[in-house]
Amino acid sequence: DLNKNQSYKQLMTLVDKYKTMGVRTNADTPKDVEQATYFGAEGVGLFRTEHMFYGEGSDKPLFLLRKMIMSDTEQERKSALNELFTFVKRDIKATLEVMKGNPVTIRLLDPPLHEFVPHDKAKLQELSKELGVSMSILNRRILALHENNPMLGHRGVRLGVSYPEITEMQVRAIFEAAGELQKEGVKAFPEIMIPVTCGRHELSHQKAIVDKVYDETLEKLGVKKIPYLYGTMIEIPRAALKADSMAMVADFFSFGTNDLTQMSFGFSRDDIGGFLPKYLDLKLLPGDPFVSIDQSGVGELIKIGVERGRKTKPNLKVGICGEHGGDAESVKFCHSIGMNYVSCSPFRVPIARLAAAQAAIEDKKYVKTS
Ligand code: PEP
Ligand code: MG
Repeated sequence: DLNKNQSYKQLMTLVDKYKTMGVRTNADTPKDVEQATYFGAEGVGLFRTEHMFYGEGSDKPLFLLRKMIMSDTEQERKSALNELFTFVKRDIKATLEVMKGNPVTIRLLDPPLHEFVPHDKAKLQELSKELGVSMSILNRRILALHENNPMLGHRGVRLGVSYPEITEMQVRAIFEAAGELQKEGVKAFPEIMIPVTCGRHELSHQKAIVDKVYDETLEKLGVKKIPYLYGTMIEIPRAALKADSMAMVADFFSFGTNDLTQMSFGFSRDDIGGFLPKYLDLKLLPGDPFVSIDQSGVGELIKIGVERGRKTKPNLKVGICGEHGGDAESVKFCHSIGMNYVSCSPFRVPIARLAAAQAAIEDKKYVKTS
């Protein structure tokens, strides 16, 4: 038991005394959150709502999502969405509850929809029966979702714009979960985060939905206020460059350095085992950009994003939630450009805390500012 080890405990007490940046965790399930709290996470920097469509226990939610995308009657789509709402709210409520008022950044649905379509015959048959459409019609609908470059396609905020009802369902789940906890005497602080954005109008489009659902939820639950923040991932180079206007509609930025690295270098993040290791061995580029932030490239973009964002909104909250948030060198870089927090996988939380403290000590700026 790590927390019972005296030396570790002493070290971490010192670390927390010196570090100025917060350290949060990326967590996909309430169980991850508990694990990360044990390692000292001070909040959740990235809760990926899509986790419920993968792996154990995903059959029913996945089926409902498929139904919602592929039904042709409004009524069927609505009823699938309403049922899905129950699953989404349950998970979010459990996560907010574990965090007891510490911030939980909930990212709205990100992956391209075709990732969720069935490929095995039995599942296809089940869906065609449920929707009352022939296999050939169903196959045609699936084909219509096909994209040659799905990671550069219909994902993130683009889904929220095409399917505003999906955004609405998720946001309602967030506000109802937080509002109900408040009524039960449990503090909750959700941060709603929009993925894969590259301009301010996308953010305003989604914010209009958030505002409407917020008012409706206050009325439904009879509460005066539900504290929350609204913000965006910065993971497309254009978003970093347009940070001044993005900040007009965002309370916070979280740099998604997995996608930002992919889109800045043009290297596929899903093919890092291919030609890339040998190519990087040639030392034509500075290190592996998927491990440490490339300070002279992607890092510059991040710096520009932070500076431009804060020029518009001086108190803009800024963090990072890509894999780099758990890399010591990158954590130091994040400190140097004035980020408020880093977020990484649960097991990397102690490393990130240590690196954040080292950065503050080297910088001689270890008086806590927040
Ligand atoms: C990112 O792109 O850095 C990120 C955190 O999001 P995801 O890995 O889910 O695309
Ligand atoms: Mg991403």
